[in-house]
Amino acid sequence: MADKRQLFSLIPKVDDILNEKKIIDILKDYDRDFVLKHVRQNIENIRKQIVKLKDNEIETFKIEEDMVISNILKSVDEEKAMNLRRVVNATGVVLHTNLGRALINDNLKNSIWDAVSNYSNLEYDIETGKRGSRYSHVEEVLSQLTGAESAMVVNNNAAAVLLVLSTMAKNKEVIVSRGQLVEIGGAFRVPEVMEQGGALLKEVGTTNKTHVWDYEKAIGEETGLLLKVHTSNYKVLGFTKEVSIEELVEIGDKYKLPVIEDIGSGTLVDFSKYGITKEPTVQESIKKGIDVVTFSGDKLLGGPQAGIIVGKKEYIDLMKKNPLTRAIRIDKLTLAALEGTLRTYLTSKNPDKEIPTLRMLTYTKEEISEKAYKLHDILRNSLVDFNIEKEEGHSQVGGGSMPTEYLKTTLIKVSHKEKNASYIEKKMRENNIPVIGRISEENILLDVRTVKEDEFNIIKTCLLEIEKMAQGGK
Ligand SMILES: *Cc1c(COP(=O)(O)O)cnc(C)c1O
Repeated sequence: MADKRQLFSLIPKVDDILNEKKIIDILKDYDRDFVLKHVRQNIENIRKQIVKLKDNEIETFKIEEDMVISNILKSVDEEKAMNLRRVVNATGVVLHTNLGRALINDNLKNSIWDAVSNYSNLEYDIETGKRGSRYSHVEEVLSQLTGAESAMVVNNNAAAVLLVLSTMAKNKEVIVSRGQLVEIGGAFRVPEVMEQGGALLKEVGTTNKTHVWDYEKAIGEETGLLLKVHTSNYKVLGFTKEVSIEELVEIGDKYKLPVIEDIGSGTLVDFSKYGITKEPTVQESIKKGIDVVTFSGDKLLGGPQAGIIVGKKEYIDLMKKNPLTRAIRIDKLTLAALEGTLRTYLTSKNPDKEIPTLRMLTYTKEEISEKAYKLHDILRNSLVDFNIEKEEGHSQVGGGSMPTEYLKTTLIKVSHKEKNASYIEKKMRENNIPVIGRISEENILLDVRTVKEDEFNIIKTCLLEIEKMAQGGK
């Protein structure tokens, strides 16, 4: 009869494992210390397993060298794989902040990669052979799209607001309506950003009502600018009065003060033509005379994370010279994705079909229902232990945009004959490509709005594996 001591002596030695062909093979590509760490960890695991064995388990415990090697290869692969990786978003939240907000168009893959895996003219003027500006690649396009004189881009919209304030209102008063002192996404609070930008906040009006005379009363020697913040993520309903952009611009003209707008989502598209809530567009604000508008690249615009600043050239030029700009500058990978997205708006016949965020937000009821049918059929035809049904429901825009908009959608309702929803939901998350859905009343709900058609098979395979696992009694 075997005892634990004998088992310990059967554990393969590090040197023996390093002489195995499969390990020698991977050592051609992988760092030796990295592989060694996994060899040792796997050996240590066997040791721990033996320590935990009960007496009646000792006899049947086997140490198979092939198994040890394949476990090592597996853990090496796992550590090599990217931790930041794709997931299937079946939540129906289009701009899902935790799942990466806006998606970049697949069509841009080659041009983005071309620009970043080679040297580029990032800050080089090809015509003159001299130093160029990294903003030049998007400036002209942004001007054409928004009607603004000038433009620049930074890391995100929070940074854009910070830069505008620090450039135009340092040690000066900035007048904002109390109803617009918002917090967005937890980390962006207008009063705090103002403080960071060195501006002194002067609140006017009340939560629900602000009038022209409130602004006029507050204007004085110390006033640097008037700021309007789009209350992207909430709505005040009922007895309300906001000073309109036109009125604000008039006040600005009268007192010779610049008027700035943080428009948040910054869409270029009038969504009301799709029957959804109209968000203020950037071009309207510029047309109405706002001096500088800032907005996000990865909200409704549907590009990469970026902060876009458009407006009068005299102000944009000052911002480009602000030393803060260097600390919040946009990276070339982002810039390439942003330029591609903006050019799609400029040149495409149907940007709403090409830009993933717009596509997902503007599906017709029929298109969504057709998509749901497909997924429904694929799942029904391959799964045995799951109930698959369709159900009407709602998707959300997300990203703190259009908080009151619920888009009609068709959901796929999934439940397992034996396992409960939280078990299935967990297993779906643990899939090699995690599938993220929602749970409602003991069902998993999958919203096809945010699922690409080529991801239907990922969902199918994922559920098939869960089915097999459940049958195996695990
Ligand atoms: C989202 C938002 C921001 C922050 O933008 P980021 O790009 O996430 O930094 C700032 N202001 C408003 C009004 C917003 O909606």
